[in-house]
Amino acid sequence: MEIGFIGLGNMGGPMSRRLIAAGHKLTVFDPRREAMDALVALGAGAARSPADVADRVETVMTSLPSLDIGLKVVNGDDGIVHGKRVRRYVDLSTTGSRAAIKTAEILKAHNIVQIDSPVSGGVAGAEKGTLAVMVSGPRGEIEIVRSALEVFGTVFVCGDRPGMAQSMKLANNFLSATAMAASSEAIAMGVKAGLDPSTMVDVINAGSGMNTATTQKFPRSVLPGTFDYGFGMGLMVKDVRLFLTEAADFGIPTEVAQAVGRLWEIAIAEHGAGTDFTRLAQTVEKRAGVEMRAKQP
Ligand code: NAD
Repeated sequence: MEIGFIGLGNMGGPMSRRLIAAGHKLTVFDPRREAMDALVALGAGAARSPADVADRVETVMTSLPSLDIGLKVVNGDDGIVHGKRVRRYVDLSTTGSRAAIKTAEILKAHNIVQIDSPVSGGVAGAEKGTLAVMVSGPRGEIEIVRSALEVFGTVFVCGDRPGMAQSMKLANNFLSATAMAASSEAIAMGVKAGLDPSTMVDVINAGSGMNTATTQKFPRSVLPGTFDYGFGMGLMVKDVRLFLTEAADFGIPTEVAQAVGRLWEIAIAEHGAGTDFTRLAQTVEKRAGVEMRAKQP
């Protein structure tokens, strides 16, 4: 199908490449020239603005880094709402349900249908097409884009109301953020007790403490000290903050989430939004007075 894709970053880049490889015809936009050039070299059409994308195709997908940017791309002077052909807007970003409900209302006034479609599985999942794709929106509209979404991974239809897939995504990312925070504290404790961090990770992964931080983030980015997992600190803190808002909106207790959130706020203050989220381990290391690095072979 003909698809517009806006936001060609860590996730949007590989996802749009996969759409082209699967035979879809893409029109792309990103303010970063090099990101545009890479997609144009693969056969994508280059648009000048989100409105220009929405002038050329009925289906527009976005993968954007913040709520403000998302709102501007939808409703700004050059936003999607000004497009002549667009009929449906598929948001692959993590925004939380409040923002999703707001954009759905704005779009509805312009006869554009919103399909929420946040994803999980990281940059590696975006490259391999193994993401969990959480979808909410009108059933008929979801079916129209289903085959394109299946290019990204497994599609899970979460409901028909705006925001439902976003609530699903925030529950998932809160658990991911918690696993990273708790695993950092657990392994720092062991290292201070004299244990080897690589041995600890192996034992945990063969035992009941296993989680996505110990199976993926520690082996790939913390133990080797590369801190290059591919998910920004700013994005993870955004998601933790969104979870706290979401939980407050629904009146859910947040004892654990508040403690986890405090640690992430310290990490972003220490390392900055532009660093990799795995640097949270260094925040714990600094306070513990240890390093959780693998011994050189
Ligand atoms: P990113 O920062 O790597 O990419 C965002 C892209 O948006 C960049 O290419 C940037 O140039 C572009 N952009 C900025 N302003 C723009 C504008 N006004 N118009 C058009 N494009 C604009 O972010 P990412 O890691 O790809 O994440 C995108 C979304 O996906 C976020 O909501 C994030 O929470 C979510 N997500 C990320 C991951 C991950 O592992 N990186 C995993 C799941 C979900």
